[in-house]
Amino acid sequence: MNLKTGVTLGLMVVMGLAIISGPENDKIDFAIAIHGGAGTITRKNMTPEKESGYRSKLEEALNTGYSILEKGGLSLDAVEATIRIMEDSELFNAGKGAVFTNAGTNELDASIMDGSNLKAGAVAGVKTVKNPISAARKVMEETWHVMLSGDGADLFAKEQNLEIVDPIYFYTQRRWDSLKKIQSEKHGTVGCVALDKNGNLAAGTSTGGLTNKQWGRIGDSPIIGAGTYANNKTCAVSGTGQGEYFIRGNVAYDISAIMEYENLSVGKAARKVISKLSDLGGEGGVIAMDSHGNISMPFNTAGMYRGFRKSNSPAKILIYN
Ligand code: ASP
Repeated sequence: MNLKTGVTLGLMVVMGLAIISGPENDKIDFAIAIHGGAGTITRKNMTPEKESGYRSKLEEALNTGYSILEKGGLSLDAVEATIRIMEDSELFNAGKGAVFTNAGTNELDASIMDGSNLKAGAVAGVKTVKNPISAARKVMEETWHVMLSGDGADLFAKEQNLEIVDPIYFYTQRRWDSLKKIQSEKHGTVGCVALDKNGNLAAGTSTGGLTNKQWGRIGDSPIIGAGTYANNKTCAVSGTGQGEYFIRGNVAYDISAIMEYENLSVGKAARKVISKLSDLGGEGGVIAMDSHGNISMPFNTAGMYRGFRKSNSPAKILIYN
């Protein structure tokens, strides 16, 4: 009997009908969900070419993680591989497509968390690491720390033989123009949550931060409990939006805590926390998944690039509200 079956059976005894009557709860072996940022994403600002570009890259990322899970791979591997695809695309504000700071630099943040043991790793303000999500994972697995920042994090990634690039790699015309106009095309942070066949949840988030941010500024994405959280007992969460509010609201952990202490479903807990975010004045959204593969993706902005795929079902990609 694998762990997942054990967990499912255990809960069925405790929760009885709730599980049996749940939406296909007992049929889900594994699941994955992603986001590519929340913000002023409207049909009006979108062209058919742009939309299809986003849809196909989101689908490629989603299917990369899905096939890892389908073969029995770890949710952590699925999260890392999925996020790397989005980091390598210019479309998203993470890795290659990262936005610029007010000093004209690119400073990237990322984090990852393993819901089976609450281990986590993060990097903040890196300037030369091609795939910050992999550096975050190395911090988790190769050090006793949770977060490394700045030059120390860049050097650590190099010592771990991760791919290092010249900072010019992160220069893209679109993001440079965004900085010059200081306009709102700042969305595009990426995130992934996954449940593997062994019942283990994992979450990861990667970003370039906010356009025109003060250099040295660190957002919520590398902060465990703010932008990322995973715990097999409750859920896996990745957030996107105005990081300062996510930090103040402890958004990712709050969803887990509400599930644990108030015994609410992942959907109710996630919606409650997004409404608290709105009350604080913050904008953004989350993707959240519980240990049965139930997914919730609430946001309070015009749109959020997002998608999910459950075992034996086709991928679903969504953009607008
Ligand atoms: N949350 C990210 C940050 O504040 C940005 C985003 O998700 O768009 O750094």
